[in-house]
Amino acid sequence: MAGEPQSDCLFCKIVAGEIPATVVRKTERTLAFRDIHPQAPTHVLVIPHAHYPNAAELAAAEPEIAGELLAEAGEVAKDEGLDSYRLIFNTGAGAGQTVFHAHVHVLGGRTLHEGLV
Ligand code: AMP
Ligand code: ZN
Repeated sequence: MAGEPQSDCLFCKIVAGEIPATVVRKTERTLAFRDIHPQAPTHVLVIPHAHYPNAAELAAAEPEIAGELLAEAGEVAKDEGLDSYRLIFNTGAGAGQTVFHAHVHVLGGRTLHEGLV
């Protein structure tokens, strides 16, 4: 069923507590934790507990949770003292997506390149 945990999914295992993560925020429907290979002084991933392969599919199926993901990304930035930050949703292997459980990267704390890539 859509949204159900997948046994072969790394982020589902983090949600289940089977793989450790440095959790910075948690709600009933979302989890925010530090990226294991940070690309900036702040690099946090915000994910839904529910399994959807990417952010667009999450938004199509569960728009409220998609909205909460964005709100939580903003709260993470606030907690980290960032007034400038970047949100990234890699979608598809060709765009660099490596974990196929919806997530948004919250990046900040250094000057971010002005372009998109
Ligand atoms: P993406 O490339 O957009 O799919 O992002 C996946 C992110 O997950 C990458 O930035 C990885 O560094 C990160 N990552 C992979 N394994 C872990 C883990 N066990 N804990 C935290 N972050 C992870
Ligand atoms: Zn998953």
